[in-house]
Parts: sequence; structure tokens; C-alpha cells
Amino acid sequence: MSPTDGAAHSGAHGATSQARPVLSVRNLAKAFGSNVVLRDIDLDVRRGNVVALIGPSGSGKTTVLRSLNGLETPDAGTVTFAGPGTSAGPGTDLALDFSARVSKKEISDLRDRSAMVFQHYNLFPHMTVLQNVIEGPVQVQKRKRAEAVAEAEKLLARVGLADKRDAYPFELSGGQQQRVGIVRALALKPQLLLFDEPTSALDPELVGDVLAVIQELADEGWTMVIVTHELAFARQVADEVIFMDGGLVVERGPAAEVLRAPRQERTRQFVRRLL
Ligand code: ADP
Repeated sequence: MSPTDGAAHSGAHGATSQARPVLSVRNLAKAFGSNVVLRDIDLDVRRGNVVALIGPSGSGKTTVLRSLNGLETPDAGTVTFAGPGTSAGPGTDLALDFSARVSKKEISDLRDRSAMVFQHYNLFPHMTVLQNVIEGPVQVQKRKRAEAVAEAEKLLARVGLADKRDAYPFELSGGQQQRVGIVRALALKPQLLLFDEPTSALDPELVGDVLAVIQELADEGWTMVIVTHELAFARQVADEVIFMDGGLVVERGPAAEVLRAPRQERTRQFVRRLL
């Protein structure tokens, strides 16, 4: 289940730090009508690092994630992924400038770089677990079905769901569905995993299993951005924590600093309420 772009990882979980981030975002801006949702967001994510995005509801965290995955189109700003993508040609960066016109091809290339784990799992209800997992690799990435199935089975076994291969989502608990959601993202072999409040729809007793899987992925060197309200988990798993409020980055830094001794009053209030 290790990441596709090499074993080296940095920060809290490992050794070397890479000179260039896997992902660089500059001056990302987005409004829905007159509602300005993102203002000048900058973000760098290094290979093997975990960045936690925290902040009150409505602060723009999900919109950042969705913009990275091509599900929203920002009004301005740049998003750059370093190196080749999953099914892209050799050795090239992907650089999108949303201040200019962005083509469908660029958006599709962007989608190829990251994979999203959604709050409400978003599994296809009419497909089995296995079909859900191989859909992207086979239909979008044009990989061989037999290979995709073999890989899916391995990943499902890894999260304790080998025996659920032929089950339908409605037959699974929320925690099991979310583990399928994670496997579906891993099967795409993305450069970057995006988690949008992955445990907030779960019954409390099911949260631990899903967090344990995410922690394992972090330990294995996956590069991730996680939107979460689980601040204790963020402190444990994240290399960097970014606190957003009102579409702005209010504070950022090492997880221990931002969560234990925030510099900004707004961060302090938020953290005090949740930790
Ligand atoms: P968070 O993830 O921090 O809760 P969101 O990114 O979901 O914040 O939302 C930020 C703001 O953008 C909110 O005011 C929300 O209502 C608005 N918003 C998000 N998506 C849309 C949309 N598709 N259309 C209109 N407004 C939206």
C-alpha cells in the first residue's frame, strides 16, 4: 500500500525533506457569487508530509480540497504538482493558472494527481465494493481489469474488508464504507490523498478504525491533506497544521506549535473549544 512516488518522506514521520514540494498552491481565490470563500490561499505540501486543515465551519477548507481535485474551479491562483502524474507522460510538472482560462484537459490532468476521501463516502450504491474500487483504475486510468482486481483485493485485505468484496455499500457500516472510500482513493495511486472530514459522519465507536487506517498511511509515507475537526488526531498525525477562518489562512506551523501554543487569538479560541 505504499505511495507510488518513492519511499522518501519527511517531517514527523521520516527522514529527508525534499527540495520541492509535491504540491504548491499560490494565491488561490474563489467566490460563489458575492460570497468570497477563499482569499489568497498559499499551501505547500512536501512528499510524505501530512497537512491538517482546521477551522470553523464555512471557513473554506472543503473548497480548498475540492479545488485541488478539480471539483471546484478557483477564480485565481496557481496549483502546481511536481513531477509526472499517475498516467501522465514522463517527468513533467502540472501547473494550472486559474487567473487564465483552464482547459478541460488540464482539469482532467489535475484529477489524475490527487484522490479524495469524502465525508459521506460517496460510494456508488448500485456497485459492489470491488466494482467501486476498480471503477477509476479501469474506466478512467485504462488499467487492465485483472490487475486492478488483484490490487483492489490486496488493499481491501489490508483494511480488513477482504470478505466484503462482493457486498453492496448499504450492507456495510459507515466505518466499513469509509474504509472502502479510502481503498478506492489508494487504488488510483495518486500523488496526494485528500481527506474531507473523513470521520465526521461516523458513529463515535467507528471513528477509531478509520483514523487508524489514516495513521498507517501517514506512517507509510503517503502525502496527505486532511480537513478534520479531530484535533487530537491532527496533533498526532500532521506535520503541519493550517488554521483557516473566513477564507483566510490565519495561522500555520508545526502541529505541536499551532495546537499547543497558538499565536493568534482566533486560533486559540477555536483550539480551546475542540481540544
Ligand atoms: P468548510 O469546509 O470550512 O466548512 P466550505 O469550503 O465548505 O467551508 O464553505 C465555505 C463557504 O462557501 C460557505 O459559506 C459555503 O456556504 C460556501 N459554498 C461552498 N460550496 C458552495 C457552492 N457550491 N455554492 C455556493 N456556496 C458554496
